[in-house]
Amino acid sequence: MANTGLYSSFVHSAPGSFIAKQAGLPVPPTLRRYKPSEPALAGPVLLGGSGRLVEPLREILTGADYTLIQNATSGRSADKYGALVFDATGITSPDELRQLFEFFQPAMRSTAACARFVVIGTTPELAGTTGERIAQRALEGFTRSLGKELLKGSTVQLVYVSPDAKTGLTGLESTLRFILSAKSAFVDAQVFRVGAADGASVESWDKPLDGKVAVVTGAARGIGATIAEVLSRDGAHVICADIPAAGEALAETANKVGGTSFPLDVSAPDAGAKLAEHALERHGGVDIIVNNAGITRDKLLANMDDARWDSVISVNLLAPEALVNGLLEKGALREGGAVIDVSSIAGIAGNRGQTNYGASKAGVIGLVDAYAPILAEKGVTINAVAPGFIETKMTAAIPLATREAGRLMSSLQQGGQTVDVAETVAYFANPASNAVTGNVVRVCGQGFLGA
Ligand code: NAD
Repeated sequence: MANTGLYSSFVHSAPGSFIAKQAGLPVPPTLRRYKPSEPALAGPVLLGGSGRLVEPLREILTGADYTLIQNATSGRSADKYGALVFDATGITSPDELRQLFEFFQPAMRSTAACARFVVIGTTPELAGTTGERIAQRALEGFTRSLGKELLKGSTVQLVYVSPDAKTGLTGLESTLRFILSAKSAFVDAQVFRVGAADGASVESWDKPLDGKVAVVTGAARGIGATIAEVLSRDGAHVICADIPAAGEALAETANKVGGTSFPLDVSAPDAGAKLAEHALERHGGVDIIVNNAGITRDKLLANMDDARWDSVISVNLLAPEALVNGLLEKGALREGGAVIDVSSIAGIAGNRGQTNYGASKAGVIGLVDAYAPILAEKGVTINAVAPGFIETKMTAAIPLATREAGRLMSSLQQGGQTVDVAETVAYFANPASNAVTGNVVRVCGQGFLGA
């Protein structure tokens, strides 16, 4: 069984659950995670709102085989809702925010465990009027607060859709299919932005990466090994890269996913060129690169030495940029491709003892911002995942008390699994997410550290 932490094991044991109930202690919910044989949601979708997207949403959801209930006004459904989806694009002035209350409030007690709440809005910066911009920006506060109230593993997300988004709306479809599934189990209270790029369809939503070649760095273990597994499950051939010293574990991952192992120190000066040559020679190029390799070398700044500072910046920040540039220079990153970087909540909220790591991971967000328009010209997306507390060897090295606090201090009251990060990466890698670029999505169960 996956490691869920001391506290969680205790409150889920028979005597522990008794004591927890008596003492009113929180019991971390068991999250529903993706299994191909299980339905995406635990119940039907209630769709509401009257904006420009309600009709496309209805088409997307019925086309994707969700059971849809539209605009139920009151009363309880016999089945508990698996999701509540509200098109808030019709809210064009702050007084109309009341529509959120009117849709969600009556249904709050009629949702299944691990339900999904989704608010769809218009990108505030692109709104047509001042009132609309204010109202659309307000959706974020609603979403983030609701996330802190939801129980039993339920989550809420806000999706901002560009007013110029095409009618195909595949970016919205791929985003919804991710959110409205167990694949987003540990993603909570996040803002997704869907742009106006022309829709790209996929032949199969089960194997969206068929025929694609992906590189995953740091693939020997931890989050990287699981990213390789999930991308391969989705149909990609995965080039698994890691430091030469990780050879055996790397070969294991590559064998497991039917991919190839490629020993590479991402911080070597010629790493980008080497990767590009390998990819061109063996596969004619790559479609996806996941810059996952990362290290921590924690020390308070007062005690930090050069090596700690330099190595963290070099592996976590300089290498992701250099690898992408290496691929671009040799024309090895194919059109329609995706770059996915791994940031961290430490890069958003900061962390004591991690000035080097926090700078590198915030820099990764800068990289996404800076490269999104450059790569868009080549039809390539770039996004980042920012994991919170994920159960890996990296977090197992954190002192026990801090580790337990890290797990519990989130709306979902537990650490995430490597697969939670991997599923988010796979969503960004999906060719149907081609209108999704420049996003940073936290995979943190709405960790209380930072925004
Ligand atoms: P991990 O230490 O278990 O695995 C990292 C992998 O990267 C290892 O296989 C390592 O050999 C490889 N690597 C290190 N330096 C390399 C180099 N120079 N070249 C090639 N490969 C190299 O770590 P993890 O927990 O799986 O973390 C993966 C990523 O997720 C990292 O970028 C990390 O910063 C980020 N992250 C992790 C957490 C968490 O809770 N575990 C939280 C936030 C962010």
